[in-house]
Amino acid sequence: MKIIGIAASDGISIAKVYRLESAVLDIKKDLVENIERELQELEKALSNSVIEIQKIRNNTAKNIDEEHAMIFDAHIQILKDPEMDRQVKDLIQENKYNAAYAFQTVSETFSQIFESMDNDYMKERAADVRDVSKRVISHLLNVPISDPTLINEEVIVVARDLTPSDTAQLNRKFVKGFITNIGGRTSHSAIMARSLEIPAVVGTKNVLELVKNDELMILDGINGFAITNPSDEQLKNYKNIQLELLEKKKIWATLKDSPTLTLDSHQVELAANIGSPEDIDSVIKNGAEGVGLYRTEFLYMNNDNFPTEDEQFIAYKMVLESLDNKRIVIRTLDIGGDKELSYLKMDPELNPFLGHRALRLCLSNVDLFKTQLRALLRASIYGNLHIMFPMVATLDELREAKQILKTCHKELVNEGRLVSENYQVGIMVEIPSVAILADQFAKEVDFFSIGTNDLIQYTFAADRMNEKVAYLYQPYNPSLLRLIKMVIDASHKEGIWTGMCGEMAGDQIAAPILLGLGLDEFSMSATSVLQTRYLFSKIKYEDMRKAAEKVLNFNTNEEVRNYMSKLINELKK
Ligand code: PEP
Ligand code: MG
Repeated sequence: MKIIGIAASDGISIAKVYRLESAVLDIKKDLVENIERELQELEKALSNSVIEIQKIRNNTAKNIDEEHAMIFDAHIQILKDPEMDRQVKDLIQENKYNAAYAFQTVSETFSQIFESMDNDYMKERAADVRDVSKRVISHLLNVPISDPTLINEEVIVVARDLTPSDTAQLNRKFVKGFITNIGGRTSHSAIMARSLEIPAVVGTKNVLELVKNDELMILDGINGFAITNPSDEQLKNYKNIQLELLEKKKIWATLKDSPTLTLDSHQVELAANIGSPEDIDSVIKNGAEGVGLYRTEFLYMNNDNFPTEDEQFIAYKMVLESLDNKRIVIRTLDIGGDKELSYLKMDPELNPFLGHRALRLCLSNVDLFKTQLRALLRASIYGNLHIMFPMVATLDELREAKQILKTCHKELVNEGRLVSENYQVGIMVEIPSVAILADQFAKEVDFFSIGTNDLIQYTFAADRMNEKVAYLYQPYNPSLLRLIKMVIDASHKEGIWTGMCGEMAGDQIAAPILLGLGLDEFSMSATSVLQTRYLFSKIKYEDMRKAAEKVLNFNTNEEVRNYMSKLINELKK
């Protein structure tokens, strides 16, 4: 069976299916006759849960680290809490409640107590109690729950959706790819799959309903589909494709330490997008010339609480020091949309991607913003720092952000801290209002970086997470290309540079057009860098300049795609 979705992360995988489902626990209130049996069931569920959590703990220590593993020690402690135990047993013995209902009632009371506490750390414990309780109840109801940290053989994960933190938990050694019902190419789990270098297909609408555990699957992350129970012939074909890909990678790798030059010696910079200091290894391994986007929100998302100024300083310093004096663009917090913080209560919004996110949220939480800016400024002396504000819509927002940055700079100097005078300040161009007014913005920033993941969703009014409108992700559409041209031309007129850190920068059909439009820096998943450097080494800037001029007058996305892919294939021969 062939299941079609959206190609989200390159590569081919062949492995067994692992369905990652969130269990539906239908807890009914019953009155039981046999109290002894109910108590025994409870004991059994508790001890099975402890065994499982112990296993997760050991896997986490082995695959991630001891610090993360300790979370599960706390989970075991919850299960052994004498007060909770007493209350559950009381409800079974005195009220004759069934064990699942009794456990749910008590654990919910405990969660609510934690939640109402003033201390953020204790508040967080509510989620732990609920997590543990779900496991115990699943045993009582005989409904299995899947747990990605328990995976210990090579699999392709099949899920309805994966949040960025689910994705972060996947163990690369065993998870050879994933495929989901929902999501688009620029949803953050797709972006993370690219940085984890595992093939992924998203937005299939119903893959979870179509496949069974342990079925063999071929996952084609290049073309965006999966094949279940493949024939011998299909398996042979795909194993050959895997080998060809390996051969190509060897050729691309010869350019690892070379500058990025076209055949006619036009030079551009190929940088990488990262989500944490750990990604720097991949940046270096893949020969990127800098970091064009450090998404700092993952530092916040992989935490139980707001990271302190010192914690942030350490992360930023680490990244700045690791790449000599190469350009490092660090983006301030871009939370909201599909990125949430478990510890930050955000009011529900009808349109989170159009809501109180990113810079908007920082400007209304100045203390939160200042903590990050201070950490960035303190780190500025350790490398070539470029600070970038996300989701700017108006010049007023930019001016306000710059003013807060200036205040932080002054405060740090007054405290006797060292701050560089040479860092640059730029913005993401991801809202059409900024692209249209780029000539004015260019006078007030040091650089632009075009965020096409959002610029495309806002230009075509199509939610980047909604697979039903995924056809409106149109990176080659002349309307978008014209907007991009306006931004690049406006920056060059003011003598500043423009980069792109949206996924489009690493797209093998779009990149040559962007080259022709005069883009200075291309920032992409580290794994796309060498392929793009190889592509540019085979084409001429002058040819791409003419091609870009031509396609700006085409009508549709498809026309541009067809024209460019034919042209590139001919030139590459
Ligand atoms: C973008 O919008 O293109 C971008 C790079 O930012 P993010 O994907 O994190 O929204
Ligand atoms: Mg964005």
